[in-house]
Parts: sequence; structure tokens; C-alpha cells
Amino acid sequence: MKDYDVIIVGGGASGFFTAINIAETNSKLKILILEKGKEVLQKVKISGGGRCNVTHAEFIPNELAKNYPRGEKELRGPFHNFMTGDVMGWFENRGVELKIEDDGRVFPTSNSSQTIIDCLLTLALKLNIQIERSQIVTDFLLEENEKVSWQLKTKTTRFSAQKIVIATGSQTKIWEKLSKLGHSVTPPVPSLFTFNCNDLRIKPIPGVSVIAQVIVKSAKLKNEGPILITHWGFSGPAILKLSAWGARSLNELDYKFDLQINWTNTENFESCKALLNNKRLVYPKQQVIKNPLFKLPKRLWVQLVTAASIIENQRWADLSKKQLVALASELTLGTFFIDGKSIFKDEFVTAGGVNLKEINFKTYQSQKLPNCYLVGEVLNIDAITGGFNFQNAWTSGFLAAKSIAG
Ligand SMILES: Cc1cc2nc3c(=O)[nH]c(=O)nc-3n(C[C@H](O)[C@H](O)[C@H](O)COP(=O)(O)OP(=O)(O)OC[C@H]3O[C@@H](n4cnc5c(N)ncnc54)[C@H](O)[C@@H]3O)c2cc1C
Repeated sequence: MKDYDVIIVGGGASGFFTAINIAETNSKLKILILEKGKEVLQKVKISGGGRCNVTHAEFIPNELAKNYPRGEKELRGPFHNFMTGDVMGWFENRGVELKIEDDGRVFPTSNSSQTIIDCLLTLALKLNIQIERSQIVTDFLLEENEKVSWQLKTKTTRFSAQKIVIATGSQTKIWEKLSKLGHSVTPPVPSLFTFNCNDLRIKPIPGVSVIAQVIVKSAKLKNEGPILITHWGFSGPAILKLSAWGARSLNELDYKFDLQINWTNTENFESCKALLNNKRLVYPKQQVIKNPLFKLPKRLWVQLVTAASIIENQRWADLSKKQLVALASELTLGTFFIDGKSIFKDEFVTAGGVNLKEINFKTYQSQKLPNCYLVGEVLNIDAITGGFNFQNAWTSGFLAAKSIAG
């Protein structure tokens, strides 16, 4: 039996961040990371298209928390103690130069996730953190003699520790184990995906991007922002946000639902109709198809005008009332049938995990199991895309570490 003060199960972002911050605070503690893979930090490696989107430049804790469809309320407190600015400072103080891109995403200046991996691995080595790879933890048992301690089993070895940190990400087997030990776990469903749509209105115009309002009435979801027409349907920030906020409700609809798009973003059907009517009075001779309104891209405008049965050389004055109503409807109430989902840039995030009511968010300690901490994606916390998911890993790891190191 190998004895440790702290064993961290899972050598990902949250596991490493916890281990390093414990060791930096209390160098006397004997710390071990057990990782099931041949290599550690594999998700960091592939993250952000190989660039690792470390965090997001949102420096107001409550605003930052709004990016978490699951976890918003619980993360407000932790973010007041350790958030984006702290993470950036943490890495920069340890030699990693970071940059903020125009959309707020934060990356290493090197544009390589290897920089983050090198930083974490070098620190772990320097701080004498033991790392055992290819060790799948299959069981952990609580021993309550004079002192509480934990026994962990892998296929080949037994370990014991005073404190354990579960940092296993979205791992069904560990969730099952935690359930058996008394935690409740929300079953996982995908989050962050794009929408499949075969509608003829969008088929010819992949690549068109526009700021619009999107609504899924059957799931009570609404968002506005950039949407991108793709070869397979819809993507872009507004769609990804819908997918994250609606992870569970869209799953219940089996990813088949009507998506309503207001391409004007600001007008409603009535005000749009009035605007089109006015156009008919002011510019009667203008050809409709050649003169996009609402700053819509020409290719999209042509598709919507055609869908309203307006033919090529029709002028505003020629439009029938029916055509005008049809165009106002296409512009503000366009309905598209969504028939499935696709993975967004391989960034698959899971909604689900350990019930947040069972965690002390000051310390990330389990309220069900003594001397047991849960950090990162194992919890029922997930975010929209943009660096927020790693922020959750860093914040939870840091606060758990402070509590463990004493
Ligand atoms: C392709 C992709 C790109 C992404 N890009 C970004 C991005 O740029 N920015 C961002 O914020 N988020 C990104 N994410 C999300 C982000 O990677 C995760 O939120 C984050 O890795 C979660 O960290 P974690 O430590 O909780 O879990 P993980 O990183 O999943 O680490 C868990 C570790 O535990 C190990 N493990 C599991 N079970 C056991 C066991 N029984 N015994 C021992 N070890 C075990 C796993 O092998 C793994 O190494 C991306 C995700 C993907 C899939």
C-alpha cells in the first residue's frame, strides 16, 4: 500500500491545478496524481484547436458567472475569490505570456496549448508531485478508524490518502461510484452543439453570418447574437448559447424542433410590415431583390425575398399585400425545422454531473463524503464556449487546494 497525504484522481486541468496549488501552499504534503491515460492533460492539449483558450477576459464575477447555464448561482461566490484576472496573473507569474483576443478569449501568446502543459508539468516536477500514469482508479473506499482516510484501488496497486480530490471530468464510471457512495448525479447530455437543418432557404448560402434573434418556443429558449449559416445548418455564438442553455430541454426534444429566426433582430412583425409599406411609398420604383434592408447580406436577402414569392424584377410598388406580409413574416418570424445536432469544432462539453447542492462552494468539499473534494467537470457545471470551462477547472482547483493545504 502506497501512502499519501493527498491523492488526486484525474490528471487533467483541474487535477493539476489543485495539486500544484496545494504543493505551493504546503510543501510538506505528499501528493499523488493518478491518471488513467498514458498521458496527462490530454484535453488541454487538444483544447481551443490546439491553442488552449485558457479563460475569458470578463473581470466582473457576477457577469462571468452568467456564462454558465449550470453553475451560475453557485459560482458567484468562488469567482469573488479566484477568477479570470487571478488565473491570468497565476500563469503570467509562472512564465506563461497570455494575450486577449478581440472577442475576449484568452490564449497563450505562443498560440500553443503545449505552453500550458509545459508550465503545469514543470511545476509539478519541481514541487515533487508524484504522477502515476495508466492507473485507472476503479474504487475508492472510506476507512473510518481513529482518523478518516481513503483507500483507492487501481488494477495493479492500492493507495491510501488522508484526503482525496476527484478530478475525473465527465466519467460515467466515477459518477456511478459517487452515486453508490451517496452523491446524486444528474445524467450527462451533450452541450455546445450546432443545429442541423435542410431548409432550401439556407442551402445555397453557407458562410453567411448575421446578427439575429433566435427562439425555440417548445423549449422556452431565446437568444440574440451572431448566427452563421453552415453547410449543414446553423452555427455561431447565438446558436451555441441556445445549445448550452437548452442542453437538457433540446435533448428531451430529441434535437427535433422549430427554430424561429428574426433576421432583422430589432423589428417585430408589425413594425417590419409598416417599414416595408413605407418603402413601397418612398421608393416605389426600386427593385426589391436588389436592395437589401436591415443591412442583411445580399445572398440572404435574395433567399428571403424569393421565399416570399417575390420575383426578380418586381419593384416595391408592384408588391401585393400578400407578398408584403409574406416578406415581413420571412424577415421576422422565419421558421426552420431543426433535425439533429453536430459537434462544434470537436469541443464536446457535457451537461451533467454531481449535484451542486452537495458541495461546499467555499472549499469544494463534498457534503456527503468526509475528506473528499470534487473539482472541474465532474460537477454539474458547464459553460458556453470561450474559455469559461477551463475557468471552472482553475477556480475549483484553486479553492480546493487552499482548503486542503490549510
Ligand atoms: C476538443 C475540446 C476542446 C476544448 N477546448 C476548450 C477551450 O479551449 N477552453 C475551455 O475553457 N474549455 C475547453 N474545453 C472543455 C475543457 O477541456 C474541459 O472543461 C476541462 O478539460 C475540464 O477539466 P477537468 O480537469 O475537470 O477534466 P478533464 O480535462 O477531462 O480531466 C479529467 C482527467 O481524469 C482522468 N480520469 C478519468 N477517470 C479516471 C479514473 N477512473 N482514474 C484515473 N484517471 C481518470 C481522465 O483521463 C482525464 O485526464 C474543450 C473540450 C474539448 C473536448
